[in-house]
Amino acid sequence: MDLGGTKILAGVVARDGTVVRRHERSTPQDSQEHVLAELEAAIAELLDESVAALGVGAPSPIDQEHGVVVRCVNLPLENAPLRERMHERFGIPVGLDNDANAAAIGEWRAGAGRGEDDIVMLTLGTGVGGGVISGGKPFRGRNGVGGELGHVVIVHGGRPCQGACTGHGHLEAYVSGSAATAAAQEAFGPSADAHRLVRLANEGDAKAKELLEEVAGYLGSAIGSFANVFAPQLVVLGGGFGVAAFDYLRGPAAEVAKQEALEPMRSEVRLAKAELGTAAGLIGAAFVGFEALDAA
Ligand SMILES: [Zn+2]
Repeated sequence: MDLGGTKILAGVVARDGTVVRRHERSTPQDSQEHVLAELEAAIAELLDESVAALGVGAPSPIDQEHGVVVRCVNLPLENAPLRERMHERFGIPVGLDNDANAAAIGEWRAGAGRGEDDIVMLTLGTGVGGGVISGGKPFRGRNGVGGELGHVVIVHGGRPCQGACTGHGHLEAYVSGSAATAAAQEAFGPSADAHRLVRLANEGDAKAKELLEEVAGYLGSAIGSFANVFAPQLVVLGGGFGVAAFDYLRGPAAEVAKQEALEPMRSEVRLAKAELGTAAGLIGAAFVGFEALDAA
């Protein structure tokens, strides 16, 4: 399960990362109970005796010790004991991770990062998720709550962040799909959004290209900083907006990143589009489920 700000992507995934069946429904915005009920309904839709474990990626820091979704920035979920609740309801092992960690694990196991030991993944969607594979294993910080790369400050005293985040100048406020939608609406009117911005750029619209280049500049600053901290072989861009806008973001972001990164990171860092596309989070969540199954 990939629990997103706007939709729940559910699927039956095989050990090799192949998605066998999938199911999608909207994410309710009104209450925690409603979100959990829809998540369970999505599971029930796909569950049969072939399913050995559940894996869930959620857009929140995860308390790995207790299996709790701590607090979503863009969803009404707080202190939700997801692992215990799902285990009680369905009776099979349950693995839980941050959605962007899951996406990074998916790309590392079955996508653009296969065979690499050090990867940074940024998922640009409703928010900005970060996932890091460091030294051949997922980096999660103490008790699993770290690695929130979307909430690093890139502009001191800058734009207020989104949803439940009270910070300012965070990466998420500049390069998420929501930020791109806000820029598109300012330039093209209230019916525009991030995807229309990309379509306009595809049609050759100069203003749309300029706005995407501005987003790419902020992204490049962050990538340069992450290159200095994690020295990854690869930075993977995923998420709905990240995948759709990749061709516009890659060039200018790489240029800025190289200005900010030290050697040898400057020469070594590569940018790649998520190979699993928007399914990276779903497939990675499945690997988190297999991890829980193998540990059970
Ligand atoms: Zn933030």
